[in-house]
Amino acid sequence: MTVRAGREFLAIPGPTTIPDEVLRAMHRPALDIYSGQMVELTDGLLRDLSKLFATKGQSYIYIANGHGAWEAVLSNVLSRGDKVLVLESGSFAMNWGKAARAMGAEVEVLKGDWCRAVRAGDVEARLSADKSHTIKAVLVVQVDTASGVVNDVEAIAKAIRAAGHPALFMVDTVASLGCMPFEMDKWGIDVAMSGSQKGLMTPPGLSFVAVNDRARAVHKVANMRTPYWDWTERDGIEHYRRYAGTAPVHLLFALRQAIDMLFEEGLENAFRRHQLLAEAVRRAVTVWSAEHVLGFNISEPPERSNVVTTVLMGSGHDPVRLQHYCNDKCGLVLGIGIGNLQGRAFRIAHMGHVNAPMILGTLGTIEVGLTALQVPYGKGGTEAAIAYLGEAVSG
Ligand SMILES: *Cc1c(COP(=O)(O)O)cnc(C)c1O
Repeated sequence: MTVRAGREFLAIPGPTTIPDEVLRAMHRPALDIYSGQMVELTDGLLRDLSKLFATKGQSYIYIANGHGAWEAVLSNVLSRGDKVLVLESGSFAMNWGKAARAMGAEVEVLKGDWCRAVRAGDVEARLSADKSHTIKAVLVVQVDTASGVVNDVEAIAKAIRAAGHPALFMVDTVASLGCMPFEMDKWGIDVAMSGSQKGLMTPPGLSFVAVNDRARAVHKVANMRTPYWDWTERDGIEHYRRYAGTAPVHLLFALRQAIDMLFEEGLENAFRRHQLLAEAVRRAVTVWSAEHVLGFNISEPPERSNVVTTVLMGSGHDPVRLQHYCNDKCGLVLGIGIGNLQGRAFRIAHMGHVNAPMILGTLGTIEVGLTALQVPYGKGGTEAAIAYLGEAVSG
């Protein structure tokens, strides 16, 4: 017996729920890629992406996922043998660093752990010790989707400046853009990148990079540049060069619709919605933790992100069984633990096109799964989430 007929709910941290309006926006013929309409579509999106990154700098759209945008960033500013410093706080900055190593950079990891955010003081100390400025770039994620941590990107930027170090500061916002504040210019970030399929509610396949003048100056002398990713190639006057070939017309239709929806809601409102729903999830997990089988992966409450919550599951209980139960029996797709947390955690995504019924349904369904599998958990988690939202979202 199952209770899964009905709409399956994807509570994984990407791809996320795609709004019906966004799906419908793609249901039309392609445009002539040389037409004025196409140029307008591109120009509007590039302008709005820079607005999302909060930068006066130029944005670029790649037909690639986040891994592609990582290469785009690295290849445009690095030269072979350059050293980059990766700030560890989970798996994603580490994987960005692996790409850098494979491309010919020297990679140093500023050791962190998977249950804490990057400490800005450690970054300052490491950069202050690099007297000859051998480190050319610092890589960090705003939110690590594996550990569930949120890094204080602004504080890290300040630490880099406090050390008086000229390294480029490059930030991955794949899991966070459109869901929480990000201020590229104000915080002093040189390069930012993101992807379409998480907070931006668009099918996978597009990624975005924004660049300031400092990064552009370094770009001029970088020798890892290749034609597809190259910013200078894409700056050419012909529209065709913006995509280094045929434009991904339908994905652009989808992105246009998604960004329109985000701006219509208002970015500040979208951030607040994410914060409210994330806190509702945290209230539930706090109550569930009373039996010491479930618990937060991120130890410090302020370091828990508003887009994904990673829940540890111990005492011999298998999170993959819970994931299978929720999926097979109830039509809820939870994220599983990845990297170091494989087999030790599950993840609840609360990013993008999500609202109270989706999140409360997710929490209630997890409780159904825990009950069915006889996993001990503190009772009343979903009620705590309800009580919180009922108070925080005033009538
Ligand atoms: C999902 C994710 C990526 C990778 O994006 P893909 O589109 O899967 O290549 C990179 N960084 C972060 C923080 C992510 O959450």
